[in-house]
Amino acid sequence: MTAGPPIDEIHFEDAPDVGSVPGPNSRRLIEKQQRIDSSAVAYPEDIPIAFKEGKGATVRDADGNTFIDMFAGIGVLNVGHANPYVLEAVQEQTSRLVHTVDFPTEARLELIEKLDEIAPDGLAGQNRVVFGGPTGSDAVEASIKLAKYNTGGDGLIAFRGSYHGATAGAMSVTSNKEFKRQYTPLLGDVVHAPYPYPLRDGTSPEASVEHALQEVQSIVEDPYGGLANPAGIFVEPIQGEGGIVTPPEGFLQGLRDIATDNDIPLVFDEIQSGFGRTGEWWASDWAGVTPDVMTSAKALGGIGFPLSATMYHEDLDTWGSGDHAGTYRGHVVGMRAGSRAIEYIQDHNLLAHARELGSAIRTRLRDVGEKVDTLVEVRGTGLFIGAEFRDADGEPLGDLVDDLQDYCFEHGVLVWKAGRNGNVLRLLPPLVITETLAETALDVIVEGIEHVTAQHVAPA
Ligand code: PLP
Repeated sequence: MTAGPPIDEIHFEDAPDVGSVPGPNSRRLIEKQQRIDSSAVAYPEDIPIAFKEGKGATVRDADGNTFIDMFAGIGVLNVGHANPYVLEAVQEQTSRLVHTVDFPTEARLELIEKLDEIAPDGLAGQNRVVFGGPTGSDAVEASIKLAKYNTGGDGLIAFRGSYHGATAGAMSVTSNKEFKRQYTPLLGDVVHAPYPYPLRDGTSPEASVEHALQEVQSIVEDPYGGLANPAGIFVEPIQGEGGIVTPPEGFLQGLRDIATDNDIPLVFDEIQSGFGRTGEWWASDWAGVTPDVMTSAKALGGIGFPLSATMYHEDLDTWGSGDHAGTYRGHVVGMRAGSRAIEYIQDHNLLAHARELGSAIRTRLRDVGEKVDTLVEVRGTGLFIGAEFRDADGEPLGDLVDDLQDYCFEHGVLVWKAGRNGNVLRLLPPLVITETLAETALDVIVEGIEHVTAQHVAPA
């Protein structure tokens, strides 16, 4: 049996098709939102659009404009908006049963088994999964609690450039000072080590890795390293918000060695990088390194249901009943959706598709970088793609990327940004995006890069 229709049948056929944007309905809804919604609303500040419906890798706004979606709800919609195979199970499940706290259901146990099927090698067949609150931050909180519970420690090692979420514990391991400034004190003993980022470090990949690992090793092993009771090392295998910073070879293995030598849990946050995004199930699969604990959320909920999970080695399964709790310990509909999304990715060979298409997109962007000086580096793996922009003095060009995002919006392609200075174009399209749609989107992006570069850089 094939799971649902092939990927070329699940998008709006007319994408991209846009008039003048934002159209009147988007304007009206945004204006109303500004009156009645929270002042914390952020995304429409960047792209002034109100959405109406989505199909696959395409999305329509309230005025009927159709866009190619190259950010997929920030890595949530890996099998596309309203994927028919997932939707079928969602509709059936919703009419029967939606919430059961953590009582067993077929849906819950099926998803746990499917996650085991796709688990990193060293966790497959010897893991447990805890479902806590619905968002990624909740999975990070669970992993912090699990690490503390098992080690009796409280010191957390995280990395500069990291993003782990917006709840107190997750914010503590997040690195963005401005994001946290109003909420301190957060968790007490958290230190941030350098994450290898050769372009920013101005060093070779090897030197970046060596420096980062030496710092982590000193924090853990130097008697004067400062962190008295380490409980865990928390790291994104590829930094998402930080700018699709892809660590050079040896970094994750080096962390694994330090964690093992010192009996500290190694926690991989795969919330953005996981669930097939990189063309393997987990970004860390590329390095062949297994964490003790791994967080997942975003795409786990299939077609956008809020669902998070923390998978951990069974040796760490020491919690007593109720030691990690919450009303939402997994959403039955989200669980059905997650299982169906895994099946869809497997049946349609989407990991290979993500690898091939991602590689073609990076090649095309690198070719542009040969001609356009502002595009200084193209990074990522599979369909997790970053393109970094700097000026001739090496200064980050965040404004250029803002303008590029606007240009793409006006021409029917939705893209997002990342990076410490907002100077990284971030592409994370649904894995179901077809070659044709990706090429069309890239035509717009490439024209946009040339156009905004001409505006930002005065001719020599
Ligand atoms: N961890 C990573 C790597 C993320 O990218 C994010 C969100 O972008 C989170 C954690 C937090 O997830 P959520 O926003 O669902 O709480």
